[in-house]
Amino acid sequence: MALLPLRDVVVFPGMATPLFVGREKSVRALDRAFESSRLLMLATQRDARVNDPGEGDVAEVGCVSEIMQVLRLPDGTVKALVEGVARARIVQFDPSAGDFLRARVAPFGDADAADPVKAAGLARAAGELFAKYARLGPAGLSREMVHAVSGAAGPAVFADAAAAALTMAAADKQKILEMPGLEARLEFLAAKLQEAIEVIGIERRVRGRVKKQIEKSQRDYYLTEQMKAIQKELGRAEGDKTEHEELAGRIKAAGMPREVEAKANKELARLEQMPPLSAEGTVARTYLDWLIEVPWQKRTRDKLDIGEAARILDEDHFGLDKVKERILEYLAVRKLVKTSKGPILCFAGPPGVGKTSLGRSIARAMGRQFVRFSLGGVRDEAEIRGHRRTYIGALPGRIIQSMKRAGTKNPVIMLDEIDKVSSDYRGDPSAALLEALDPEQNTAFNDHYLEVDYDLSEAMFITTANVLHTIPRALVDRMEVIEIPGYNDEEKEQIARRFLLPRQLAANGLTARDAQLPGDQLRRVIRNYTRESGVRSLERALGAICRKLARGVAGEMGSGKKRARRRTVVVDGPKLAELLGEIKFRDEAAEQRDAVGVATGLGWTETGGSILKIETIILEGKTSFILTGKLGEVMKESAQAALSYIRARARDFGLAPGFYRKLDIHTHIPEGAIPKDGPSAGITLATSIVSALLNIPVRADVAMTGEITLRGHALAVGGLNEKLLAAQRAGIKTVLIPRDNERDLSEVAHSVRARLTITPVENMDEVLRLALARSPWKRRGRAAGQAAGVAGGAGAALS
Ligand code: ADP
Repeated sequence: MALLPLRDVVVFPGMATPLFVGREKSVRALDRAFESSRLLMLATQRDARVNDPGEGDVAEVGCVSEIMQVLRLPDGTVKALVEGVARARIVQFDPSAGDFLRARVAPFGDADAADPVKAAGLARAAGELFAKYARLGPAGLSREMVHAVSGAAGPAVFADAAAAALTMAAADKQKILEMPGLEARLEFLAAKLQEAIEVIGIERRVRGRVKKQIEKSQRDYYLTEQMKAIQKELGRAEGDKTEHEELAGRIKAAGMPREVEAKANKELARLEQMPPLSAEGTVARTYLDWLIEVPWQKRTRDKLDIGEAARILDEDHFGLDKVKERILEYLAVRKLVKTSKGPILCFAGPPGVGKTSLGRSIARAMGRQFVRFSLGGVRDEAEIRGHRRTYIGALPGRIIQSMKRAGTKNPVIMLDEIDKVSSDYRGDPSAALLEALDPEQNTAFNDHYLEVDYDLSEAMFITTANVLHTIPRALVDRMEVIEIPGYNDEEKEQIARRFLLPRQLAANGLTARDAQLPGDQLRRVIRNYTRESGVRSLERALGAICRKLARGVAGEMGSGKKRARRRTVVVDGPKLAELLGEIKFRDEAAEQRDAVGVATGLGWTETGGSILKIETIILEGKTSFILTGKLGEVMKESAQAALSYIRARARDFGLAPGFYRKLDIHTHIPEGAIPKDGPSAGITLATSIVSALLNIPVRADVAMTGEITLRGHALAVGGLNEKLLAAQRAGIKTVLIPRDNERDLSEVAHSVRARLTITPVENMDEVLRLALARSPWKRRGRAAGQAAGVAGGAGAALS
């Protein structure tokens, strides 16, 4: 029989196996067999590496197989499908066949078991193992093989099929093929199956573990990659390539002056070198943002139509005719001169008189942006001029911040409370302010943060102040001060009717149909619930009324959305009391009575004018002069001056020389009304003391203001407008003012002058004549002009 040596393959009886035959000798053996009986002896080489095997190189036991199919491949090799027929043993090699191997073979082994029961049992056990093995799905086990095994008829066929199907070393398969007893074969097979199952199990576990490890490392890799991607994205937002381009584009578009643009580009190049999320990167980025966002080019076109401006000012504000006129003049000059250089407007007056809203109207009239910031409490130069960038969290100063907020080069910037700027060791803010406001300097305003010069000359600055005397001289010099003294009750009523009430109604969701505030009740709000120069508290009180009414209206609506049958609420006296509670200020004038030692002065404080009652009583004692109340130094000096005047004139008053030696004079100035203009309480102090000493009442309807000299002259004071308004509010009839102040009366509204008897006085004699209920003079006919000489003489006598 022709013999085909196999490398690493063992063919079992009953098994179809494809063979790839390449060796010439083997091809010839195959051909010969295919041409004759189709039967061929297959024997596995002992060593697969031997290329031209001879007698001793192949296993003795092999399988006689039938050639089912032969297929010649183009490369000269042959693919043959063979099926094992029976075990055979090589008896003898045939040396005569030179060009292929031939041998005499004999049948080998017995198909029948020696012990059929044992064999059946072993086969079942091995069958179960095989099923388990098959379930594990090992590589190289085909569905056909599994079928062949499970469908095997009898233990012998099973054993061969299983042996063929099981993946194991060729040597082991050969061993099974050679085993003579079926039982031994089955046992060995079972052992091999068990082994294979275990190996697969181990393999799986190892693979699982490896997989897990791989998965973990893959996951880590994936996440790391992801993180890199995210960081890259973030980097974009902080200074990556595209961000760089974006910034470069914005720098270009900002229209900066050339040096500034150069600076910005240099900074941008620096930014590129920095890690995107680093602190310094953020600082550089913020800086660039500032440089870009401060307006360099953008401006609004000025509307300088004076008629229109007048209309807008009137539309937003009642009264204030003089103020409006000054504003219009200012705008007219700007229009004619066509320059932005000019004095800075400063609105001075108590709170709530419309300083801010005038500023806003000016911006509206000119078609400019409006920004404001308060200087109250600013004591650090850096707040105006910014911090240097080396400081953590440094920012530009308020001026540059305002410019950015305005977004245009030419906004109206309102600096509130310029009188509240103070300076300390951190530098003088007013110097920085001066630089910003002064048209001669502000073309190149230097902000410490920005580092580059900024041109402020197109911005229009308006400042506000409550009082002028605390503003640094240099600043006042550059400002055109427009004083707004405050409003009298009639003006307030008009402002409330036309502006405040409609605004508050609307703000609270009401219409004029919901509520009616009759004139007498509005006047009560003005007189009894507020006492101020401006209208801020008044607006607040009206707001409170509207809020409470809104609540009532909403309550009536119930859960429904519709306002069924709206009822107009008339706020009458009881209703007003219900809404605003107890009145806060009584009408003083009505209950005032002339009193000894009580003189009414007029003060001027930051919140406007106010009256101040100065009281004096005389006690028995020893020459002391007691002053109480919260007094300023200047006020004490005024009191001393007043007392000296009285001592000098003692004889004229009918007082015994040295009268003060047996007396204590106690003068009290109530706190809460400390005049800010210093010595203006002088004549009031003197009147109070004379009244007390002579026991003559002072008229309650007379108020006065004026500084006093040692000789009893009344000197001019400030804040006349405010003081007159305060006098009017307090129900005063007659006001005594220093004659030097007479010229200021032209600034006082007609309505105020019409209600008050304003009497200019030159000296104390006149004051006492007008203010005291009775004449204090012992010697009649004394002319005021002679007072000076007498006072001088008396002064000498006293000393
Ligand atoms: P200020 O800045 O002087 O403290 P505001 O400008 O804030 O005062 O004014 C307070 C309120 O009073 C604002 O609602 C303002 O519109 C209003 N107001 C003040 N004066 C007038 C006026 N003459 N006409 C209309 N409303 C006024």
